[in-house]
Amino acid sequence: MKTLVWVEHDGQAIKDATLSAVAAASKLGSVDLLVVGQSVRGVADAAARIANAEKVKLAEAEAYAHQLAENVAPLVQQLMVEYDAFIAAATTTGKALAPRAAALLDVMQVSDILSVEGEDTFTRPIYAGNVIAMVKSSDAKKVITVRSTAFDKVAATGGRGMVEVVSVTGDAGLSTFEGQEVAESSRPELTSAKIVVSGGRGLGSAERFAEVIEPLADKLGAAIGASRAAVDAGYVQNDHQVGQTGKIVAPEAYFAIGISGAIQHLAGMKDSKTIITINKDEDAPIFQVADIGLVGDLFAIVPELTGKL
Ligand code: FAD
Repeated sequence: MKTLVWVEHDGQAIKDATLSAVAAASKLGSVDLLVVGQSVRGVADAAARIANAEKVKLAEAEAYAHQLAENVAPLVQQLMVEYDAFIAAATTTGKALAPRAAALLDVMQVSDILSVEGEDTFTRPIYAGNVIAMVKSSDAKKVITVRSTAFDKVAATGGRGMVEVVSVTGDAGLSTFEGQEVAESSRPELTSAKIVVSGGRGLGSAERFAEVIEPLADKLGAAIGASRAAVDAGYVQNDHQVGQTGKIVAPEAYFAIGISGAIQHLAGMKDSKTIITINKDEDAPIFQVADIGLVGDLFAIVPELTGKL
């Protein structure tokens, strides 16, 4: 099969999730990459070095400056004449683009795959990750989003693909870019961090969340996560939410502090390599998935742990 993989980037650097999407695509066949933007030749050159990439299709136009999905989807439709599958990571950007491309191609998207079982067969989570469904697509062209935590990233360097400039489709006239607010943080990005320290309702307030969680995260060089209850209560901004309706993470180490372990939270973190939890209720469901569990008051345990580190 010939696959085309969406390269997610910010105009400068390629997002790690792309490397997982390439890993999934490699299981289907040959891999070409698609770089879209304005003045993004540097990104295309970097993409050409990704392992397994044969060719990088580069589409540059003013209409692509902000990679609006409405403008990029017709481009994907145009390019798909040559390909059997279009693959994007199941990120915010990928989830905006892929369904639009699928609709234009008149095929059904296969979302959030966990594995490639064959050229038309995939597994994907349903019921908040409690059931893994095996699905088969009979569409001639596949449009697939990939859960990046389920695929080991390919190397970002070592490939020797060539860059090919493609003709552009221009402005679809459906949306305009008004502005963006980018959260600045010196901490690692939540979905790619090696260590995540998450706090829940047990923290009790925004002040105590900051006092207890931040020093531990700083000591460990970790990203900060949160349960939805903590986000809803205003302890922390919603881009920190982990879970079914938040971000999916699978770090080397995940700390769940004052988090009960509702299935919707587990859906976002249960594939973490080592789960460490601190909770005063020894019957909290989080202990069922934890590798290391401490029963006790987080306000005593976490500062002590941070101090010892
Ligand atoms: P609680 O369940 O209230 O747990 C707090 C825990 O803190 C308790 O276990 C308690 O024992 C412990 N604790 C309290 N004080 C201390 C202390 N001093 N020391 C130690 N431990 C202490 N939730 C998510 O997280 N992410 C999602 O994406 C998400 N999506 C959802 C989608 C839907 C459709 C629905 C219906 C729900 C969703 N939820 C999600 C909500 C989820 O069901 C839970 O309500 C939520 O995860 C609970 O958050 P929590 O564990 O912080 O709070």
